[in-house]
Amino acid sequence: MRKNIVAGNWKMNTTVPEGVALAKEVNEALKAEKANCDVIVCVPFTHLCSVAAAIDSSVLGLGAENCADHKSGAYTGEVSAPMVASTGAKYVILGHSERRQYYGETSETLREKVALALENGLSPIFCIGEVLEERENGTFNDVVKTQIVEGLFNLNAEDFGKIILAYEPVWAIGTGKTATAEQAEDMHAFIRNVIAEKYGNEVADNTSILYGGSCKPSNAAELFAKPNVDGGLIGGAALKCADFMGIVKAF
Ligand code: PEP
Repeated sequence: MRKNIVAGNWKMNTTVPEGVALAKEVNEALKAEKANCDVIVCVPFTHLCSVAAAIDSSVLGLGAENCADHKSGAYTGEVSAPMVASTGAKYVILGHSERRQYYGETSETLREKVALALENGLSPIFCIGEVLEERENGTFNDVVKTQIVEGLFNLNAEDFGKIILAYEPVWAIGTGKTATAEQAEDMHAFIRNVIAEKYGNEVADNTSILYGGSCKPSNAAELFAKPNVDGGLIGGAALKCADFMGIVKAF
C-alpha cells in the first residue's frame, strides 16, 4: 500500500539555530498528536546534522533538497549522496523546478543523481511539473510524461518502487495560485497510468504521488481527499510549525 506523506521543503531559508528550533517544534507537535501520514522535513545541507540530532527519526523523517551527480572528487561546493546519507537523512528532493530552472538540471544529470541517491539508501522525492505556458497550451500531460520517462524509466521496478513523486505545477509554486483539486487529481491519475504502462498496476498503485504548489492548511484537505493525491510537498507553509501541522492534520 502506498503511503500518505507530507514533506516540507525549506528551500534556502532559516539559519541553523532557526532550523533546529523549527524542526524541534514540529517534532514535539507530532509527538503530542500522532499524524495519520508520514511527515518529513527537507532542509539545507548545512542543517542536516544538527536537525538529525534534534529530532526523533521515528516521528519525523529528514531529507536534503538536492545532491550531487557525482559520488566524490574534485567538485568544489557540491554535496554528494553518501555525504547526505551519512547525516542520517533518508530522503532527497531531486529535480525541483527551481533546480531545473536556475541551475540547468537536465534529465541526464537527474538520472545520475537518482542512481547515486538509491545506491546510498536515500529515497528520492522526484519533482515534475509544467510551466504556465505548457498548462495554457495544453501540452502539460506530455511535458510531465517526458520528465518521468527521461528521468526515471531507466530504473528497474524494484528501484522505481523507492521513488516518491511530487507533481508541482511550476505556475503554482510560491505564487499563491494552487491547482484545483480536480486539476491535481487529473494529473496524478495520468501519472499513475504512465507508471502502470511501464511497471504494471501493482507498482503504480504503490507509488506515492504528492502535490506541491501553494498548498496550505485551507486547501490541503480538499487536495488530499482526491484518490490519487497521496500528500503534499510544502514550501512556504513548511516554515511555520502551525501551518505545516495544519496541513499534516488534513489527513
Ligand atoms: C515547493 O517549492 O516545493 C513548493 C511546493 O512551494 P510552495 O508550497 O511555497 O508553493
